[in-house]
Amino acid sequence: MRNIVRAVEVNKYFDNFHALKDVSLEVNYGEVMCILGPSGSGKSTFLRCINQLEKVDRGGIWIDNELAGYRIAGNKLHPLSDRQIARQRLQTGMVFQRFNLFPHKTALENVIEGPCRVLLRPKREATEEAMALLERVGLSNKAHAYPQALSGGQQQRVAIARALAMKPKLMLFDEPTSALDPEMVGEVLAVMRTLAKEGTTMIVVTHEMGFAREVASQVVFMDEGRIIERGAPEDILLNPQNPRMQNFISAIL
Ligand code: ADP
Ligand code: MG
Repeated sequence: MRNIVRAVEVNKYFDNFHALKDVSLEVNYGEVMCILGPSGSGKSTFLRCINQLEKVDRGGIWIDNELAGYRIAGNKLHPLSDRQIARQRLQTGMVFQRFNLFPHKTALENVIEGPCRVLLRPKREATEEAMALLERVGLSNKAHAYPQALSGGQQQRVAIARALAMKPKLMLFDEPTSALDPEMVGEVLAVMRTLAKEGTTMIVVTHEMGFAREVASQVVFMDEGRIIERGAPEDILLNPQNPRMQNFISAIL
């Protein structure tokens, strides 16, 4: 099975604070991994390391068999240039808790921005593809709306379309529904469920247990910078072994 993500003993420090401690995992092509864990356990930091918003201090992350941030020549690691890192970063699409849309651009303009400016796609092609993506997230009728005229759930769906427009190999979601009013959570999860069924490789940090149980092929639970439990969702969520995970689950159910 081809792996899209392979993290090997990833360690990350913020000054003296040890934020990630020997985090290792693999995500195969077409798989959905859900990461659970209490606030401050290192979930966002780990996603940020995968897409190179943060630098790993020890260990390594391979995306589709390419080591993030380095080139291997002979027996040595050579740091990549900013430009090479920018190219690697295109392999991952990220959706944040806050939607981060450009406020002065319409939904459609938000979606074609990356393809036109970064991938240098012709505007007509990019627009056609963006319209298809907006359709996929149920927003073709909002293509010309500005973010402020959209609900939180709609903005988040535009953010998903915008990330998909770059055709990443891997989608990272960092608590994509945590900032939403409850009535909008469902529409965003529905889009993510569809992506999962279509075979999109995804890593999702979420507290949505129902989503994790239904969609995840693996679940990992992080605490204090470590993975302390991992497995199939039915095992992990229904029968957690670790007391910290038991507490966490009973607190949010
Ligand atoms: P989670 O997403 O699981 O809530 P984070 O990955 O955001 O956790 O943070 C893990 C720990 O690392 C927290 O204690 C946080 O305060 C710390 N941390 C995260 N980013 C930074 C940073 N840029 N500088 C210093 N500490 C940070
Ligand atoms: Mg976080």
